[in-house]
Amino acid sequence: MLTNRQIFYEHLAQTTNSPIDIEIEKAEGIFIYDTEGKKYYDLISGISVSNIGHRHPKVIEAINSQLKKYMHLMVYGEYIQSPQVQFAKLLTDNLPEKLNSVYLVNSGSEAIEGALKLAKRYTSRREIISFNNAYHGSTHGALSVMGNEEFKNSFRPLVPGVKFLEFNNFNDIEKINSKTACVLVEPVQAEAGIILPKPQYLQKIKEKCEESGALLIFDEVQTGFGRTGKLFCFEDYNVTPDIIVFAKGIAGGMPLGAFVSSKQIMSVFTTNPILGHITTFGGHPVSCAAAIASLNVLLSEKLYEKVDAKANIFKDIIGKHPLIKAVRSKGLMMAFEVDNFELLLKIIGKAKQKGIILDWFLFADNAIRIAPPLIITEKEVEESANILFECLNESQ
Ligand code: PMP
Repeated sequence: MLTNRQIFYEHLAQTTNSPIDIEIEKAEGIFIYDTEGKKYYDLISGISVSNIGHRHPKVIEAINSQLKKYMHLMVYGEYIQSPQVQFAKLLTDNLPEKLNSVYLVNSGSEAIEGALKLAKRYTSRREIISFNNAYHGSTHGALSVMGNEEFKNSFRPLVPGVKFLEFNNFNDIEKINSKTACVLVEPVQAEAGIILPKPQYLQKIKEKCEESGALLIFDEVQTGFGRTGKLFCFEDYNVTPDIIVFAKGIAGGMPLGAFVSSKQIMSVFTTNPILGHITTFGGHPVSCAAAIASLNVLLSEKLYEKVDAKANIFKDIIGKHPLIKAVRSKGLMMAFEVDNFELLLKIIGKAKQKGIILDWFLFADNAIRIAPPLIITEKEVEESANILFECLNESQ
């Protein structure tokens, strides 16, 4: 009989020759356990998904209670389903007034697809502006706005009409013009290795968008739901986008994505054509029930307010190691840069042996990614950072 590991390599499509390869038994809070009973600190949260930890009791309770009522009933937007509408209300109550209409999908890529279509349809323009080293997902549309040639080239032709600006280059902002349907930007670039916008940069983009009639889309798939120290990252930059995109940490570990705009903009999906965006599973009631519970946990425990203090402990311990060449961070979204990829792999391998799960970045393969669940305690931060410090020592 084949073992699960053998089946994984034999019958599950592989996308890398070096997967993390831990066989999972269970996950709880900030910990993941393998089938041999080994416990790992999850310092990456499934890439910013488990913001309130794995299997949060409030999320489990909400899922169980929804399961007793109904699961999927009909394609998106036809029936009035309490989990969907109550989540939309809770979410929009916590966003600026003009972001008051929510379209629910299943993932980040899908939310990006919907947001791009919405901008084209609303403005009747075709050109999209994105940024070098941006990551917005892996479907054709989302791939077309990815700011990295290597990942795109084998899949051409892609969606035409995409222009790329250099992130933080103020002169490039001039390329936004009356042909631009939308500017899609991560308020903090994640896969680029945690690149923060320069002061006033996002404001200048917003001003130029307003001047030229282009819509501004913020991709908060990775930065949203407390990760950066505010409920949403845009709050720190004093800019409200026209469309905002969420996924990952939105639903306490369940699959859900959303793009949110004004009712006026969103209304274009109802005509020419009718059903301007369709999804079968988008806004699944069980995911939405989980999303309500998860957002309520974030809000009632104000987890985002404790993010910076925890990040500072990581920075104080790991950032001081001589192998670390630079530290970039926004809340609990951190990049610790080392000399090269080989050294990085060595550190990640050592960390795995000692029970710490780490990762790198798609477009910054010389930086350790640390993005733990926000519920991690200061004591657990210290413990895991000290173990990681030892790993760095042993990798010299
Ligand atoms: N945008 C950003 C900023 C992301 O980090 C990701 C996923 N890493 C996506 C979009 C795509 O999300 P998904 O994988 O759910 O399609």
